[in-house]
Amino acid sequence: MFILSSPSGAGKTTISRMLLDADSEIKLSVSVTTRPMRPGETEGVHYHFVDDAEFDRMVGVDDFYEWAHVFGHRYGTPKGRIRGALKQGQDFLFDIDWQGTQQLFQKDQQDVVRVFILPPSIEELRRRLESRGTDSPEVIEGRMERARAEISHWDAYDYVVINDDVDACFAKVAEILHAERMKRQRQTGLIPFVRELMG
Ligand code: 5GP
Repeated sequence: MFILSSPSGAGKTTISRMLLDADSEIKLSVSVTTRPMRPGETEGVHYHFVDDAEFDRMVGVDDFYEWAHVFGHRYGTPKGRIRGALKQGQDFLFDIDWQGTQQLFQKDQQDVVRVFILPPSIEELRRRLESRGTDSPEVIEGRMERARAEISHWDAYDYVVINDDVDACFAKVAEILHAERMKRQRQTGLIPFVRELMG
């Protein structure tokens, strides 16, 4: 369970996409959300978009590994679609916030790797948020406030990567993934292999 978190504007979506394109062994965990679909988003690809009643139902039947309120909407990681694959050793990328990260970590410390992406400076973060479109100064200010709040959780992560160059940042995140896969306890089948070598 490879978790990427960051304040919005730090480049997490780009890094996630690069990682999924470059590494066929990892799949995206598609979250469920009550927020409305944005232009350019596709049901089942970016999120599963549901109404409040459906989200409530899923909470009621314990269908989430974790869920949280983020910016006035609810987001959650559904168990149903990934549980079996996780058990079989499939790697998943989670693009979730600090609250979800905390919940997944409490559930399964062994299998969770937590990576936090930081912007190179607050000025650059503002520039990136401003360049997204035609949002009013109030909207930008709100995003900056939320970004500061998200950044304050940086110390609950195993790795922190500063995104001053997207290719360099991606390379670092990919290195973390590769190194974590090599950890002895994550290499299934190692015991019989070594027995064979020694036998
Ligand atoms: P957005 O609405 O911009 O796609 O996402 C807003 C925030 O919600 C992002 O920080 C994203 O990481 C977080 N998020 C997306 N899916 C989940 C989820 O399933 N659980 C949690 N806890 N956060 C999520």
